[in-house]
Amino acid sequence: MARYRDAKCRLCRREGMKLFLKGARCFTDKCAIERRNYPPGQHGLNRGKLTAFGVQLREKQKAKRIYGVLESQFRKYFQWAEAEKGVTGENLLRLLELRLDNVVHRLGFAASRREGRQMVAHGHFQVNGRKVSIPSLLVKVGDLIQLRPTSKLQVRLDDNVNAGRGQVPQWLELDLNEKRGVVRSLPLRDDIQIPVAEQLIVELYSK
Ligand code: SF4
Repeated sequence: MARYRDAKCRLCRREGMKLFLKGARCFTDKCAIERRNYPPGQHGLNRGKLTAFGVQLREKQKAKRIYGVLESQFRKYFQWAEAEKGVTGENLLRLLELRLDNVVHRLGFAASRREGRQMVAHGHFQVNGRKVSIPSLLVKVGDLIQLRPTSKLQVRLDDNVNAGRGQVPQWLELDLNEKRGVVRSLPLRDDIQIPVAEQLIVELYSK
């Protein structure tokens, strides 16, 4: 499966804000945004004003980068969101939020979505009792996500969860002792606290 492999901090610098792609490092003064908060590249400091299209494009790129999704997959999510009832932008964010790698991160098992993706891909989790290694799997209400009994991640998970950075949202329920979580409901827009104006993404794709 294709994925972005270049420097992650460049993505934050391009968007001009912390996207929290690197876990613990993002909370230290080593964060590139703390040190060089301007777009990367030779002309980073001299970029002109954004056009209306540019603003829409940046919102789409930001959402893609936060969830670690590439263009073709993101477009697929958009098509699914359009086909669903309700507000397309909110549907889109809900679909992204229901990805298994995001859920593992939201439960506090992983310090970042990228780490969540790796944990899932390496087969450390099971969903409803069955081993799953597909980070893009979309969980459903009632699904039980649990660290596999044979996984050797126990200590690392304690570190992540105790760091208190993955505050568990209301639509999920965490049982720390059992290292498992349940999807209680579908996430509402207020539960998805990412700095993205989803309406601009809808406008971009509707051209
Ligand atoms: Fe972004 Fe984290 Fe890098 Fe800071 S440390 S620039 S928040 S990925």
